[in-house]
Formats: sequence, C-alpha cells, structure tokens
Amino acid sequence: MEKQETPSIVYRFGNGVYINLTNRCPNLCVFCIKTKWNMQFHGNNLNLEGQEPSAGEVIAALERELRKAPFQEVVFCGYGEPTMRLDVLLFVAQTLKGWRAQAKYPPFIIRLNTNGLGNRINHKDIVPLLARVVDEVYVSLNAPDAASWQKLVRPIEEFQDGYEDVCDFIHACVEAGFRKVVASCVAQTGVDPDAVARVANAQGATFYLRSFLDEQD
Ligand code: SF4
Repeated sequence: MEKQETPSIVYRFGNGVYINLTNRCPNLCVFCIKTKWNMQFHGNNLNLEGQEPSAGEVIAALERELRKAPFQEVVFCGYGEPTMRLDVLLFVAQTLKGWRAQAKYPPFIIRLNTNGLGNRINHKDIVPLLARVVDEVYVSLNAPDAASWQKLVRPIEEFQDGYEDVCDFIHACVEAGFRKVVASCVAQTGVDPDAVARVANAQGATFYLRSFLDEQD
C-alpha cells in the first residue's frame, strides 16, 4: 500500500469524498483499522497528529478536492468520531448544503458515519441539528446487546453504558426522517450478524454487514 506523509483532511474512497475531522474517539474497537493500518488508509495518511483542521481548512480542502473528479457523496468519517467536533461538522455540512443548493457541483449526498454516541459526547440531543444539514446517517452498531458491545467497542469508562444510547440515537435518526439511516455490523467479530440486524430493524434502520476492510464507521 502506497504511503503518504502529509495528513489528509479530505480523501477519496469509492464514489465518495471523505472528511477526516479528528482522530479522537471515546471507543477503542477491536476491529478499528486505524491502529492496524498505522493510520494509513488506501494511500492516505489520516494521522492528524493532534492538528485538527478548522472549518475553514476543511472547506478549502474540499474546494480543492471536489473540483478534481466526479463524486456522489461527501462523508464525515476518518479515523476518529466526527461528532467529537460537532460545531465544525455542522458548519461544513451547512456549507456543503449551500453549494448543493447553488448547483456548484453535480448533485451529491451528505453523509455522517458515526459510532452513535454523539448525544452523550455533546451532552445534548444532536439529532435535530444533524437533520438540518446531513442526508444520511450510518451508525456503527456492531452488537446485539450491551455486554458484547462493551467487549467489541471498548468504550472509555464514562460510556460503558453507552449501548442503549447508540440504539436510541439510531431510533431518533429514523424518527427525524433522514433520507437513509443504516446500522452496521463489522463481519467476523464473533457476534451473530442476524441478531444485530434484528436490533437495527427494530429501531427502524436498514442493516448493513461490512468487512473491516471497508471504510471506517
Ligand atoms: S468507533 Fe470507529 S474510530 Fe472509534 S475506535 Fe471504533 S472503529 Fe475506530
């Protein structure tokens, strides 16, 4: 795999342009590829080394990247939890939505990939804020119950009881009427994907089983 030294604020994967807002995350998932791949992802260095980009830097990086080649979606993702930087996320998503309204680029989707702990992280209900500027939400669910979730995602002490919050977040996103709400499970972690799918469907979300070699959550 080609190695790149300069940290990527935005990078391409499939039909998407991805935004790497932070490397911080309250979880330490056993399947997290940021540790396995030494912060590299398909030729991009996603190690921000603590230098998280400002909203202005993200927008400038997007303006450079989006004009280079076609894309179908812009995704808040990266090697970290995007809702750790809620204000920047919302500002950038609002800017993207404005560009879309002005038809500055061909039509595209604005997506958030998240671990589902955003309400706990931000100590408030962030779903209505997201619903104004984000089209689709993909939540990394990964487990059919709290005990296996704890073992797999290894949250910090404060979030040991976070499984219910993740389920509530998924449900709230469905209720808020996002274009698509997907709850995912990484394959081959030892949990029964069908059981995770039942939890996802019970919250009203679409289920997606993904390889850990796919994008991060
Ligand atoms: S939630 Fe995502 S970024 Fe955080 S540890 Fe898990 S896989 Fe890695």
